[in-house]
Amino acid sequence: EELLNVPADPAEEKFEEQIRPSKLEDFAGQQKLTDNLRVFIAAARKRGEALDHVLFSGPPGLGKTTLAHIIASEMGGGIKITSGPLLDKPGNLAGVLTSLQRGDVLFIDEIHRLTPAVEEYLYSAMEDYRIDILLDSGPSARTVQLRLEPFTLVGATTRAGLLTSPLRARFGISNRLDYYPPELLERIIVRTSAILGIGIAEEAAFEIARRSRGTPRIANRLLKRARDFAQVAESDTITRSLARRTLSALEIDEDGLDDMDKKIMNALLEKFSGGPVGIGSLAVSVGEEQDTIEEVYEPYLIQTGFIARTPRGRVATKQAYLKFRGTLPGNEGP
Ligand code: ATP
Repeated sequence: EELLNVPADPAEEKFEEQIRPSKLEDFAGQQKLTDNLRVFIAAARKRGEALDHVLFSGPPGLGKTTLAHIIASEMGGGIKITSGPLLDKPGNLAGVLTSLQRGDVLFIDEIHRLTPAVEEYLYSAMEDYRIDILLDSGPSARTVQLRLEPFTLVGATTRAGLLTSPLRARFGISNRLDYYPPELLERIIVRTSAILGIGIAEEAAFEIARRSRGTPRIANRLLKRARDFAQVAESDTITRSLARRTLSALEIDEDGLDDMDKKIMNALLEKFSGGPVGIGSLAVSVGEEQDTIEEVYEPYLIQTGFIARTPRGRVATKQAYLKFRGTLPGNEGP
């Protein structure tokens, strides 16, 4: 849980700021996406225009916020950060939009959670850089049109499927972020260790990398904990054995699965006899929000091949039986 959520305390935020790559060339992986962005940014700059609006989708912690910062800095503009749930009234959105300067990035996280009224208000802002403002109320009420400075909306969502099609259609650039392979996470870990001023053995970096659920944010968090273990052991380097000790202390298994992953798999295998089961029932049985299961846990369990999605619900795969039961279904004996 703690590993997967957006940090809220100032120390965490400072850590994020320190380690967040600020240039496209420091951003590891997602090659196709970054190659394309590089072209679109260069072209927009040549024309002296704001970059087209960009949508990023994918599981949390893969770098959507980081890319929004990078776009702002490569375009030479500023960035304002907000989120779908925070923009609960058109008035709030109008306030943010009118504060934007030419070429700024407006980053809206969880953009699938905008209310219909706010979303509608966003359309003309995205399309024509204009909004309607209501002046006065009662009989003297009237609307005036306000021109906005050209800006780039960067939207992020864990659930691209929940975006309405009119909103989706207004993004000129749309990209899905994928889980990172261990080799790339290893590079990120080595880079972060250098920033943190701690040595790390190559096998240690790889050990953490392959158990980080394909997610840079988790890799960096695990690295931070490994640094704690190294410091207590008075070692200036994170060795493979220190890394392994950290991972087992945090109850992260060989496949990078954590406590909640294991709970989900056990429920699926035991309570629901391997499925098929609906995501709602699965969520209730492990005591977690359905959204969190769908956005955070399930995508990784599907990616690693432990859960399969069928029209009738989620089912445990052969691989899941082998890992959690040590045998295939039907071979469990009397
Ligand atoms: P959320 O949507 O939950 O906010 P996110 O996808 O926006 O997540 P970020 O906050 O951008 O994720 O990234 C999480 C952390 O991982 C940051 O500390 C960032 O520095 C690091 N990170 C992400 N992607 C990369 C990358 N490609 N290279 C190096 N570091 C990365």
